[in-house]
Amino acid sequence: MFKLLKRQTSGSIVCPACSQLVKVEEPVCPHCGRQNPSIWGFARVLRTRGYDYGFISLVIWGCIGLYLATLLVDVGGIRNSGALNLLSPSGRSLLLFGATGAIPVFELDRWWSVLSSGWLHGGLLHIAFNLAWINDVGPFVAKLYGAGRLVLIYTVACIIGSLLTSIAGEYFNELPDILHGASLSIGASGGIFGLFGALVAYGQITGDSAVGQKYWKYAVILFLIGFIMPAVDNWGHFGGFLGGYAISRIPWLNPSTPEGHNHLLVAIACLILTLLSIVVSVGHGLPLFMALSNR
Ligand SMILES: [Zn+2]
Repeated sequence: MFKLLKRQTSGSIVCPACSQLVKVEEPVCPHCGRQNPSIWGFARVLRTRGYDYGFISLVIWGCIGLYLATLLVDVGGIRNSGALNLLSPSGRSLLLFGATGAIPVFELDRWWSVLSSGWLHGGLLHIAFNLAWINDVGPFVAKLYGAGRLVLIYTVACIIGSLLTSIAGEYFNELPDILHGASLSIGASGGIFGLFGALVAYGQITGDSAVGQKYWKYAVILFLIGFIMPAVDNWGHFGGFLGGYAISRIPWLNPSTPEGHNHLLVAIACLILTLLSIVVSVGHGLPLFMALSNR
């Protein structure tokens, strides 16, 4: 952790875009023209965290930390109904930390929850399953697209997934059960489906059909499993895939072009907004949480 804070101020680094040696103090890479190739002196230490610059670890530990927090603020409300709902945090504690869906977004005006909900989970199996997928697919997306683009793809997918399920939950309740959205929704699966979408887009953009077909198959199979398992947010999955795919087709994210300085700045903005969405959720939700707890 502390190593992450150590800035390199002298010597050379490997340019993150073209892999040539560049002096740390160089503002622009003389080989490929990438701005700020040393990433303010953090290029080497970020690179030791993997292609994703540590983003996947951040998602994993962030989700685990928030899962424990949602359990601990309301220990009496923890439910254990069957293997699928082992160690489930209470609805009010999920609401407190930023669950999304028709109720938070349309009835409580907690619109920022479309961002926070991707970091919350509804049970031990739910979080284990999602984090295993992120750990598996995330580094691969980072390798193909770059760490900054990974963060952007993941964030947009979470937002679109949450948005779609909230809208469906509010307006599509006349439709058959299977097409219902969620009144309360949580989980990183929208982001995971977004990563699948990015890899399908990668196959189309680069012509690497093996990658595209493999992840298209994963997305379809997991999507169909969602229809036979109870309480799965199918709109969140569909929206996540759509968001991840659509953003990946924008030329600025073209995986054939190296990632630049601005991608990392946008990624940092995404991370700050995500953190804010959780902080605001807790601040705004505390009076409601207290009221629900005292009932
Ligand atoms: Zn370069």
